[in-house]
Amino acid sequence: MFYGMYVAVFHAMWRTWLFAFVLGQFAGLGVTAGAHRLWSHRSYKARLPLRIVLMLFNCLACQNDLYEWTRDHRVHHKYSETDADPHNVNRGFFFAHVGWLMCKKHPEVFRRGKSVDCSDLLQDPVIRFQRKFYLPLTGILCFYLPSVLPHYMFGEGYANGFFVAAMTRYVFSLNFTWLVNSAAHMWGNKPYDKNISPVENAFVSFVAIGEGFHNYHHTFPWDYRTSELGWKINLTSIFIEFMAYIGQAYDLKTVPDHVVKKRMIRTGDGTKDCFDSIENRQAHSDHAHAHPEEVPYEEVFPHRE
Ligand SMILES: [Zn+2]
Ligand SMILES: [Zn+2]
Repeated sequence: MFYGMYVAVFHAMWRTWLFAFVLGQFAGLGVTAGAHRLWSHRSYKARLPLRIVLMLFNCLACQNDLYEWTRDHRVHHKYSETDADPHNVNRGFFFAHVGWLMCKKHPEVFRRGKSVDCSDLLQDPVIRFQRKFYLPLTGILCFYLPSVLPHYMFGEGYANGFFVAAMTRYVFSLNFTWLVNSAAHMWGNKPYDKNISPVENAFVSFVAIGEGFHNYHHTFPWDYRTSELGWKINLTSIFIEFMAYIGQAYDLKTVPDHVVKKRMIRTGDGTKDCFDSIENRQAHSDHAHAHPEEVPYEEVFPHRE
């Protein structure tokens, strides 16, 4: 296995690496724009063709079917950092990263998980279809096609296709997703809410195409951008905005700037997001001093149950 990987890594064509990289972006979008921002948080709406594309991208990622991924994620948000959180970061980096997938779930995850409503998911025929045919779909999309397509497109060997475009790409994209649950719950700053473990982490944002602004995301989970910084290091937001431009996505939810700023004053750790410019920082702090009053609970959590 490792010898096969070694041979593939040093003998694969650059086209195969490029192909693997592009597939990795598609797989990533299937998780970030699909499983996460569309189905878990309903932060925007998508027409049927886009939902089908995202479902197929999601099969390419092979990270459990959409129903299961979304259920785990909603439970993670509702019971963050408790025994009921499927990847509770209080149990350490390894557990939050991958360990949670290797052992039985804590009984609290099942008990509390029952209170999280996921009935809306099964009303979507795209999710029902994926769940019904998940094994053949992921077998073909995540492993078979990435192995053989480089051969048909530009004459690459099957083994190189398998080790580079299927396995190496898969291992990287799994780890990049898992970093959101581990590193982005441990290392970074907390400009929006210092009382929770999620942080802003530039590296995770970069590799997880926009999902490392995790302190913002846990504070305002319904915002389709998962950040207040727009397109910056956020391929997923660019993709959703492009889909809105061509009419495939609509009802994109955001949080007004003044609500974000007020929340930062009330619960933030006083730092600014790692990517924000000095000018913005100055403008924000001027604005902050002009409105030092407390924010009503409803305004901060307009969508909270
Ligand atoms: Zn989330
Ligand atoms: Zn989280």
